[in-house]
Amino acid sequence: MSSSAVTAPFNRDALEQVLKRRFFFAPAFELYGGVSGLFDYGPPGCAFQANIVDTWRKHFILEEDMLEVDCTMLTPHEVLKTSGHVDKFADWMCKDLKTGEIFRADHLVEEVLESRLKGDKAARGIKVEEEEDEDKKKRKKKVKEIKNVKLDDEVVKEYENILAQIDGFSGPQLGELIVKYDITNPSTGGKLEPPIEFNLMFETAIGPSGNLKGYLRPETAQGQFLNFNKLLEFNNEKMPFASASIGKSFRNEIAPRAGLLRVREFLMAEIEHFVDPEDKSHPKFNQVKDIKLRFLPSGVQESGSTELIEKTIGEAVSTGLVDNETLGYFIARIYLFLLKIGVDTNRIRFRQHMSNEMAHYASDCWDAELQTSYGWIECVGCADRSAYDLSVHAAKTGEKLVVRQPLPEPITVEKFEIEISKKKFGPKFRKDAGSIEKWLLERNQTDLESLGNELTANGKIVIKVPGVEGETELDTELIKIEKVKRTEHIREFTPNVIEPSFGIGRIIYSIFEHQFWSRPEDVDRSVLSLPPLVAPTKVLLVPLSNSAELKPIVEKVSNVLRKNQIPFKVDDSSASIGKRYARNDELGTPFGITIDFESLKDESVTLRERDSTKQVRGSYEDIIDAIKQVTYFGSSWAEGTAKLTPFESQSTDA
Ligand code: AMP
Repeated sequence: MSSSAVTAPFNRDALEQVLKRRFFFAPAFELYGGVSGLFDYGPPGCAFQANIVDTWRKHFILEEDMLEVDCTMLTPHEVLKTSGHVDKFADWMCKDLKTGEIFRADHLVEEVLESRLKGDKAARGIKVEEEEDEDKKKRKKKVKEIKNVKLDDEVVKEYENILAQIDGFSGPQLGELIVKYDITNPSTGGKLEPPIEFNLMFETAIGPSGNLKGYLRPETAQGQFLNFNKLLEFNNEKMPFASASIGKSFRNEIAPRAGLLRVREFLMAEIEHFVDPEDKSHPKFNQVKDIKLRFLPSGVQESGSTELIEKTIGEAVSTGLVDNETLGYFIARIYLFLLKIGVDTNRIRFRQHMSNEMAHYASDCWDAELQTSYGWIECVGCADRSAYDLSVHAAKTGEKLVVRQPLPEPITVEKFEIEISKKKFGPKFRKDAGSIEKWLLERNQTDLESLGNELTANGKIVIKVPGVEGETELDTELIKIEKVKRTEHIREFTPNVIEPSFGIGRIIYSIFEHQFWSRPEDVDRSVLSLPPLVAPTKVLLVPLSNSAELKPIVEKVSNVLRKNQIPFKVDDSSASIGKRYARNDELGTPFGITIDFESLKDESVTLRERDSTKQVRGSYEDIIDAIKQVTYFGSSWAEGTAKLTPFESQSTDA
C-alpha cells in the first residue's frame, strides 16, 4: 500500500522521528555539534541505498550494455577550468551586511514571495495547508514582516508569474526583484547586498608543494568524457554507446537544508550516452513510446503557469516537445526506474529547462521532479549536452575525441589545407617552431579560410601564438594555405552526449515521503512501504516464544534464507509479536515469518505481508520460494502466494 491510498495526512515530523529512531541516516559529526549538509547513513539506510544502486545498475547498465567506469574524485584545476565549472558553477548569494547572514538569492526570493502569497490567502479567508521544515518554522518565528496582508490582484499575478520561472533568473535579475519587491533579511528586516556569485566547488591542493590546484569533483561526468577514446576502443569503435559512473560528488551549497535534499556530499549515478549528432533515433524507442508522462514544458513556465500536460513520450517526441528519440527513451526509462524503486507515479513530473536556464550548448534538458512536502524537487536531470564536453577537452589538450566511421561511398570534399615548409621553419623559429606548427595545425576551416585570404592579400600573416613571445610573422615562403579537393573514405565526427544524472539521496528521501503512512486504527504505528526489491531487510523471522524448543527450526529456516541470499533478521526478543512486527514495519521490512509450535510438527510457518498484514501458511520452503518470487521476480503478493493457504485464525498483529 502506498501512502497515497491512506487518508491520514502526511506527517513529516513523524517520518523524521522514524528515520532517526531506526538510524536510516543522521547528521554527521553530531557529537561535535554537526556540520550542515553532511550526513552519515546507518544500517538500514546503507542497505536501502545499496539496493537502489544495484537496481540502477541492472535497469540501466545491464539493460543497455553500458560501460561503467570509476574515476577519481580529486580533479585538477585545468580540467574543471576547461569544462566551464571554474567560471560558471556558481549560485547567487546575498549578504546582510549587519548580521553577516548569507542567503541563496533565488531561494530567498521564492520563500518571501511564497510567504506573502500565503499571507494574502489568509487575509482573504482562504485556508492554506502548511507543511514546513523545522528551519523554516524557526525562521518564521523571527520574521518581522507583517503577515496576512492582502495584496493587490495584480501583485498576486506578478508573484505567481515570478515563482513559475524562479529557476530561470540570473543574479542581476534576482537583484532587481529583491529591490523591486523590497525583499530583506526575513528575520531582521535588514537590507541585503546585491547578489554575488559563489562557486560551489570545494578547492584543495594536490600534493605537498601546493602547486597543483584541484577540486573535489562536483559531478562524475568529466571522468567519463576524459576516458572517451579508451571507452570507444573498448567498445570496438561501435556507436552509439554509453558509459556510466556511480560515486560521490561534492558541492559547497550556500544553504544546505531539507535533510538529504540539499547536502554538500552526495552519491550520484550518471550516464553519458554518446550518439551520432545526425541520427538521434533509438532502436528501443518503440518499447517505451506508449508510456504516459506528465510534462511541464518551458513555454508553460514562461507564461507564468505550472499546469502539467499529459501525453505519451511517443507524442512528446513526434510533436517536438522533447528534442529527440534518444532523449525521450531515457526520460521514459528514468520514469520506469523511479516506479520500480518506490516513487509514487502521481508525484513525478518532467520539467523542461527554460531557455535562460539551460546551458547555451544544450539542445534540450528535462528534470524528473518528485513532489515532496518541500515542494517539487529535481531528482534526475536529463540533458542533451550536444558535443560541448568532448569538443572543449579536445581543443584544450589537442587530443582528438572523435569517432571515425568508414563511409558507404567515398565522397569528394573541398577544404582548406595548410602546407608548412619544415626546412625553413626549424632554422627560423628554433625552439618555438613546434608551438607555432601545432597552433597552425589546430585551426578549423573558418580560421584557415580567413588566414588564407590574409596571406593572399598581404603576402604574409601575423599571428599570436600562446607561449611564444611577441607576434609571429609568416610569409608565403614559410606556409601555403590552399583550397584542395580530396576523396574521403572516412567520416569523422564528435559525438553528442545525452546525460541522465541521478542524485541518489534526493530519490531516497522522496521515496521515504511517498511510502510513509500510519495505520488508520493507530496513528503511532507507522509503516514504510518500501518495495520488497529495495527494502533493506526482506524478512523478519519471529519465533512465537523464545523457548529453546523452537531454536532448531529457527536455525533451519535461517540457513535456507542465508543460502538463498535473502537479507533477513531474527527477532527473538520477549516483546509481543505485534510489537516486533511494528518495529519492522517502520524499517520497511516487507515480510514476516512466524515460527510456532505447529512448526515443530510439520515444518509449516506463517508468512505475513507488511502493508495488508495478510497471512498465509505453508512449508517453510514454499514460503521462502514465495518471498523470492515477490521480491526478485516481480510477482504480486496474490501471484506469489497462490499455492499457500490463507491464515486467519490467529492475528499476530495484536
Ligand atoms: P545537476 O548536475 O545540478 O543537474 O544535478 C544532478 C542531480 O544531482 C540532481 O538531479 C540532484 O538529484 C542531485 N543533486 C544536485 N545537487 C545536490 C545537492 N546539493 N544535494 C543532493 N543532491 C543533489
